[in-house]
Order: sequence, then C-alpha cells, then structure tokens
Amino acid sequence: MLKYFSILFFTLIVQLAVAQKDSVNSLPCANRTFIILAHEFLDTTRIPSVTLASLNADIAALNNAFAPICVSFKLCEKRDIINYNFNVWYSDSMQAEALSLYAEDRLIDVYLVDEIKEPGGAAGYATLGGISIPNSLVVLTKGSGSGVWIHEFGHYFGLEHTFDISNGAELVNGSNCTTAGDGICDTPADPYPNGTANSLCEFQSSQKDANGDYYLPDVENYMSYYICACRFTHDQYVRMYNTYMIAPKTHW
Ligand SMILES: [Zn+2]
Repeated sequence: MLKYFSILFFTLIVQLAVAQKDSVNSLPCANRTFIILAHEFLDTTRIPSVTLASLNADIAALNNAFAPICVSFKLCEKRDIINYNFNVWYSDSMQAEALSLYAEDRLIDVYLVDEIKEPGGAAGYATLGGISIPNSLVVLTKGSGSGVWIHEFGHYFGLEHTFDISNGAELVNGSNCTTAGDGICDTPADPYPNGTANSLCEFQSSQKDANGDYYLPDVENYMSYYICACRFTHDQYVRMYNTYMIAPKTHW
C-alpha cells in the first residue's frame, strides 16, 4: 500500500513539474539583450549619487523579471551630466531636448533625476511601447528602486497599468477584458485607488463594479500600484514580447 501511494505521489509531482514547464514553454522567447545607457543629471554639488553597484543591482532585478521571455539588459555606460535644470524634470518641456542632446541609437536611454515634476509626483515614467518607437526613453528618480525600474520597463514594453481606465473600466467578470482596463485578460479588474493591500498582501475594499461584483485585483502585479508588486502575468509577457517584435528592423 505504501508503495502504491509513493508511486501515486511521485506521479503527481511529475505531472505538476510537466505542467509548470508547459506554462513556461508556452511563452515566446525573444533571445535578445538590450544595452542600457544611463544618464545621471547632477545637482549643483556635481557629485553623482547613483553608484554603478546600485545600477547593476537594479538591472539584475530587471533581468530576473524579463527572463521568462528571454529578454535581458546590460549596462554599457553611466554618464554623469552637468545640466542642473534637467535634474528637476518636466517631461513636456525637457524630453525632446534631452533626447536630442544625449540619446544614442540602438540603446535604451535611461535618465536619472532627483525629481519628476511632470508627470506630477511620479517615481518614474517611460514612453509607452518605447521599445519599438524611435526617440523614446525611461526616466527614473535616483534611488527609486528595482520595483520602479521593472514597472517602467513594463510600460516601455507596452504594458498599461492594471487599473487603467482610459479605454473604460474593466469588469470583474472579465467580459470586456480585451478592450477595457489594461486590455489584458489574465490581469483582473483593478479599482485602484479605491482599495489597498494590507501587510499580508490581501486586498481590502468594499468597492463593487458596475455589475455589483466585488473587485479582487492582482495586488502582486508589477503594473499595479500596490506595495506587493512582484510579478508579471503570462499575457503581460506575451504583450511585451509582441511590442518588441513590431519594432522596425532598423530600430535595433
Ligand atoms: Zn506606471
């Protein structure tokens, strides 16, 4: 009898392992390393505050997050730039000028600033789908941390916020998931900012959608604004892969 259960248990483990392998294998593989050029705008002391060690740690975290679609990133250089105005960043008035002054082709340009005034209060921002768009960029506040890097690179690879409502609010039952919200169906409807995640990463809100259904968002999703963010979903990986694949052949 013990032998029978051992075999059953072993079979179950093997089946689970195969199922996990299948879900990983079903993701497309871009097999691509992108080169990052980091620009730190200095403050009036002219002393850089972002170390190479911290940059490489953030990029290592980025590599872990993007590994399932065989995308990785490598720092080619960090340039310290004396241009104090740009250290307090207004996207509308500075983005085009910064790109014309400092950007290089066939690299991902990351700009590190002390403060982002526009878009207001952001820890970072990125061109949506910038991986396939010339003259695109990622802007991050210095020391914002690897979670912000991953979130902004999610945007750069075409992901919207899970709580996006610019194309309508996603319903909890998912019936409009292809068009509303973030347009991705394996990320549940997210009512942010109407709700929070507690320290156990449980969602807390009494908010209901238009059908009267309670929300249960993925508080662990990198494209949410909850403190628990730690993963992308399968369909988000597919979207990021596809966003890269539509880049003009001359772009990379
Ligand atoms: Zn964002």
